[in-house]
Amino acid sequence: MNSKAAVLRDFSKPIDVEEVELLEPDPEEVIVKIAASGVCRTDLSIASGHFGNVPLPLVLGHEAAGTVYEVGSRVSNLRKGDHVLAVWIYSCNNCDYCLSGRPNLCKNGNTSLLNATMPSGKIKIRDKAGRPVHHGSGTALHADYAILDQRNLVKIPDTVPLDVASVVGCAVMTGVGAAVNTAQVKPGSTVAVVGVGGVGVNVVQGARIAGAEKIIVLDRYDNKLESAFKFGATHSIKTDGDPKAKLRSIVLDGVDYSFEATGNHLNMELAYSLIKPGGTTVIVGAESPTATISIPALDFVGSQKTIKGSWYGSTNPRYDAGRYINLYASGKLLLDELISAKYEPSQINEVFSDMESGKIIRGILVH
Ligand SMILES: [Zn+2]
Ligand SMILES: [Zn+2]
Repeated sequence: MNSKAAVLRDFSKPIDVEEVELLEPDPEEVIVKIAASGVCRTDLSIASGHFGNVPLPLVLGHEAAGTVYEVGSRVSNLRKGDHVLAVWIYSCNNCDYCLSGRPNLCKNGNTSLLNATMPSGKIKIRDKAGRPVHHGSGTALHADYAILDQRNLVKIPDTVPLDVASVVGCAVMTGVGAAVNTAQVKPGSTVAVVGVGGVGVNVVQGARIAGAEKIIVLDRYDNKLESAFKFGATHSIKTDGDPKAKLRSIVLDGVDYSFEATGNHLNMELAYSLIKPGGTTVIVGAESPTATISIPALDFVGSQKTIKGSWYGSTNPRYDAGRYINLYASGKLLLDELISAKYEPSQINEVFSDMESGKIIRGILVH
């Protein structure tokens, strides 16, 4: 079938919406009519070449919700018309990582993600000339229709608006998951979040749900700091000047947990500098593959600190997506407030520039 999709052909060049063809779904695959897709900083990093060798051309997009349009012959728990949201890690339930309870590290899911293919390894998108177009992030969701393995989809109640559900698949999973799964923030603890964009504000609300006493947000943009209070921030610090000293005027020894949610190595080092002895820093943002961070070696040992990476919020993707939708339905997780602006699919380049200038938290494309 034919679809329109945001295709990346060259790094650092504007993205065009092109007519593409989706091949017939295999037995475990599903075609979804996308209602809305969230634009993530990672889309921008892929498009700018920040992550290096991503196979091109590809359809961008790894966060969306929509309606099931067609199902393969072995899809048992989804039918046409069901409301679904997409998760960008496929979990095979067969590899060592899945079997040991770390489905976010699924070897097969992460391989298709990096190779920008379906989990089967196939490429099922063609351009007008009949040439293959890769599945960006293994999902290719900035499109009117997307083809996905059934294990990349989560059925959601019809009562949850699809545009709202579209931001769960990356921003919420990554941010809330980092606080509740990776760090396991304890009630009464203190938290600092460096960078309060789409992922950072979700770290904030994850920490709030987990019962943190103080949630200190750090960012270079005033509007982002201000909006973080809606999600549960208790204090804010602008990162110009000496953010470390400003933080220590709020919490003398530093915080129990700090999070980096910008994908910048200097901010990762800043996050580490904010924790107290025994504290934990969680790195959430995705940096370029060649970037490194350095920390004071003796302090790391002598203050018994911990640094953890958080990949997809250490989630069990399909189970946690359902949990987060339930938290939204009960009023504990804010999703409507996450969406700063809605755009036409052809405006994706404008979303990127609004994101870079700090104008928006999360922009979504309405298909
Ligand atoms: Zn993302
Ligand atoms: Zn697996």
